[in-house]
Amino acid sequence: MQEFRELADKLNRDNDLPRSEFLSLIAMRRNLSSEDRSYLYSLARAKADRVYGKNIYLRGLIEFTNICRNNCNYCGLRRDNRNVNRYRLSKEQILECADRGYDLNFRTIVLQGGEDLRYTDDDICEIVSGIKERHPDCAVTLSIGEKSRESYERYFRAGADRYLLRHETANEEHYRHLHPAELSMKARMECLYMLKDIGYQVGAGFMVGSPFQTEECYADDFAFLHKLQPEMIGIGPFIPHHDTPFRDMPSGTLEDTLFFLALLRISFPEVLLPATTALGTIHPLGREMGVKAGANVIMPNLSPTDVRKDYLLYDGKICTGDEAAECRKCMEMRMENIGYHVVTSRGDHVKFKG
Ligand code: SAH
Ligand code: SF4
Repeated sequence: MQEFRELADKLNRDNDLPRSEFLSLIAMRRNLSSEDRSYLYSLARAKADRVYGKNIYLRGLIEFTNICRNNCNYCGLRRDNRNVNRYRLSKEQILECADRGYDLNFRTIVLQGGEDLRYTDDDICEIVSGIKERHPDCAVTLSIGEKSRESYERYFRAGADRYLLRHETANEEHYRHLHPAELSMKARMECLYMLKDIGYQVGAGFMVGSPFQTEECYADDFAFLHKLQPEMIGIGPFIPHHDTPFRDMPSGTLEDTLFFLALLRISFPEVLLPATTALGTIHPLGREMGVKAGANVIMPNLSPTDVRKDYLLYDGKICTGDEAAECRKCMEMRMENIGYHVVTSRGDHVKFKG
């Protein structure tokens, strides 16, 4: 389609499009030929290659608690879900996982969990500084939800380098469909601006194909991302969880996720862009295809094997039975197979040389 390629080229040149053209571009995604899709991915990949080459950065994910005070409508860990076997890892267990990750050559450890107030700020700081003391050349990323500015500052002083907090959607009406009334888009966005201001490398992001999402929502997401200028953008398909209000909603598609990954790479050439586990869940080669569409980060699991089956944000999550070492090897092999290399590096954003 000539018109599609013209718009894609314009986005590639300017890194942004006027809203009406952006909406036209994404409306065309339903009728693209495989050549048009390949064309888009090749534009995205060329931009990624220029900044990051064929390097793929790994993040070792420790899912340290599945207890959450929130009740997001899409998430299997929501507090109203009584069918979750809830767990918390002790500080010792978390540090052990991080040690194992380090031995497996991970140089970024991501601590992710529900919003579990049992871990005080002191606890989080101790865990962060514990990892940094043992492994000063490791980056620590937190992904533990909305906190006060003071808490974010304390974690940063304790050594946390990065923070992942997907904005989920930048459309007010859509935000209200996805969340109960006690959560607000404004509060979420304020957290992201605070994190940036404090000096974190910040990750925002959204689900692809989530219930009630419209093309206007995607346009709002891109506009917000242009404003925030995050260092990382995490996107993956929405996948229903059987114990949530969205149990009967369809998953986001592989094609849409790859399409938006490519648009993000073209729009934000320097951003760190993961090919997520959710993408690997909807297709066995989803993460490989994600890399070929512009992603440059993979986040294998370092959580103890016995708790992995209890950290189910969505149904069918992959790699819940594998040891960390297996995940690492598997990822190396998968990347080599498509001509990319997993590197032993913190993998900072190009503007943050750590
Ligand atoms: N509690 C923290 C971190 C854990 S949730 C937080 O909410 O920020 C991490 C991410 O998982 C969320 O941001 C959301 O985008 C994603 N997620 C949750 N449920 C999902 C689902 N059903 N399908 C796909 N992604 C989901
Ligand atoms: Fe809790 Fe995060 Fe799930 Fe929302 S998405 S219920 S905050 S774990």
